Amino acid sequence: MVRIAVIDYDLCKPSKCHQECIAFCPVNLTGGKAIEMSPERRKPVIYEETCIGCGICVKKCPFKAISIVNLPDELERMLVHRYGVNGFKLYGVPVPRQGRILGIIGKNGTGKSTALRILAGELRPNLGIVEGAPPDWDEIIKRFRGTEMQNYFKMLADGKIRAAHKIQYVDLVPRRVKGRLRDLLERADERGLWRDLARDLNLERLLDRDVRQLSGGELQRFLVAAVLSKDANLYLFDEPSSYLDIRERIRVAKAIRSYVPRDSYTVVVEHDIAMLDYLSDHVAIMYGEPGVYGIASKPYGVRAGINYFLKGYLPAENMRIRSEPIRYTISFTRQASAEAKRYIGWSRLLVRLNGFRLEAEPGDLHEGEVLGVVGPNGIGKTTFVRTLAGELEPAEGSVEKPEGQLKVSYKPQYINPEVLGEEKTVEQLLREANPSTLSPGSWLNVEIVRRLGIDRLLDRKLRELSGGELQKVAVAAALAREADIYLLDEPSAYLDVEERLTVAKAIRRLTEARSAAAIVVEHDIAVQDYIASKILVFTGTPGRHGKASRPLPLHEGMNLFLKELGITIRKDPETGRPRINKEGSFLDRMQKRLGKYYYL
Ligand code: ADP
Ligand code: ADP
Ligand code: SF4
Ligand code: SF4
Repeated sequence: MVRIAVIDYDLCKPSKCHQECIAFCPVNLTGGKAIEMSPERRKPVIYEETCIGCGICVKKCPFKAISIVNLPDELERMLVHRYGVNGFKLYGVPVPRQGRILGIIGKNGTGKSTALRILAGELRPNLGIVEGAPPDWDEIIKRFRGTEMQNYFKMLADGKIRAAHKIQYVDLVPRRVKGRLRDLLERADERGLWRDLARDLNLERLLDRDVRQLSGGELQRFLVAAVLSKDANLYLFDEPSSYLDIRERIRVAKAIRSYVPRDSYTVVVEHDIAMLDYLSDHVAIMYGEPGVYGIASKPYGVRAGINYFLKGYLPAENMRIRSEPIRYTISFTRQASAEAKRYIGWSRLLVRLNGFRLEAEPGDLHEGEVLGVVGPNGIGKTTFVRTLAGELEPAEGSVEKPEGQLKVSYKPQYINPEVLGEEKTVEQLLREANPSTLSPGSWLNVEIVRRLGIDRLLDRKLRELSGGELQKVAVAAALAREADIYLLDEPSAYLDVEERLTVAKAIRRLTEARSAAAIVVEHDIAVQDYIASKILVFTGTPGRHGKASRPLPLHEGMNLFLKELGITIRKDPETGRPRINKEGSFLDRMQKRLGKYYYL
């Protein structure tokens, strides 16, 4: 076995602890040296050769900064990169194949972005050599002789890879680029395609806008267009689905499939499994321990690979990556509303708001119910919930609800740390939301804070968090607040598959426990399928008028919605996950003929 000791230097704060990690180390106490303060870094270093892996420092560190794991020796031959002494280790990279789209799925923190940077030539792998001269390309190529990586690294070394990279956090773009969309697209274009891309990605009516005026979904489509217009032979898309509604996800998937040049390499990292499935020709799974080490699996066929990932076992590697399988079943929450108490009822509603008009069919909401919302952005979802809560008066119709204004706890689609208070720490935000959030043993603490790994972030300021971390914290704070209605707009953006399901479960249980109701806007079909007991379908013209259906049973609601989109979905028999049928395929045609757009 090989021991790896990883210290998260963002978490380690020697001035705020008693340096227990060093004081209690048994090797140090008996005259050896397994851990000591590095004079340059002023933080501890662990010597993996002398450390006996007892784990005492792991337990003693008040900030949970240390991780120690043992891995099989053979794995070291696959070591591609290490981020410095006691840093994260990446084993293998998912190797793309020419003319095929490689999908990557896996937990956050297992090295997906690192792997993309290596594939793009933005980061030269160091083979784990973190002191002295880094290895040159010859050594790197030699190390991976006989593997698919050898060829790929050879091309990188010879400068034969030209990469175009769609970054993960689209929200950062307006800070770095300025100008009108038309000019930016024209300037980026190397293939003479920008007008076609603008048309196919539905950007035409935005061309005269400044990037700063774009919503997250619009930024996403703009970036995909700009990347596809590059004359490259490697196209990388890091989470292309964030902030897009379902129609736009399919649009983007189709654009990627049809615009990447035939002989290029394409890699997509994506946590929306229906989209990944629809988009990829084969998939690789990244697994390991987040922040400590990551391993890239061999490439699998799309259906099998996603299923192995969900089941938590990789046969080619003979590796269990999760103790429990992830299953999508539609059995358990769905009857809840029949017996539950009616909570809010409404007649046919008409709401007018500064030129926007919303119509809603009559309906009601029961205690403990999770209402899933599907439809585009700007279609009146927030307006609708504010009307239910009594914050807005309908022009026609009425809402029947408990006395007074209902309290709404809201997680908006875009999380702006400035609005939440950039200088606040995560702990402050969570305590403000609810003083018991962090009490040991409290439900919120166990089911949300710890499950999502937020306990490791408590000391961090909001402005220091990554997009994914911020999302988790904002969701946790929204759920921690005592409220009558929880409105969560795209809670899964930037979260991985497991985190999405943790959030979904937490929403469901919390809504029941507090006899509240939750309204969840979610464009990941698998998550919506997992969480919603009923579906509200919004249609209309964004920004002008919206129409809300009555709350429909999941099946009926999704059917109506998919019919609008002209998309059919089947269910994978092994895992229960929804799969989008390829347009014009046998199943697609049959389901359309039978009017069964959602599952056969
Ligand atoms: P993923 O994309 O799967 O979320 P990343 O490749 O972004 O994972 O990061 C994997 C781990 O590598 C992170 O958890 C972090 O601990 C570490 N890491 C990433 N970038 C750096 C860096 N520049 N320096 C040191 N460590 C890093
Ligand atoms: P969604 O939640 O579906 O994204 P909203 O209910 O927030 O949609 O908004 C519907 C439309 O009404 C949007 O065009 C939005 O710009 C507009 N709108 C929402 N709130 C206001 C407001 N306070 N003042 C003016 N327009 C608004
Ligand atoms: Fe203190 Fe933990 Fe850092 Fe050691 S690893 S110096 S115990 S914060
Ligand atoms: Fe010392 Fe044990 Fe920590 Fe290794 S794991 S550094 S031996 S306390």
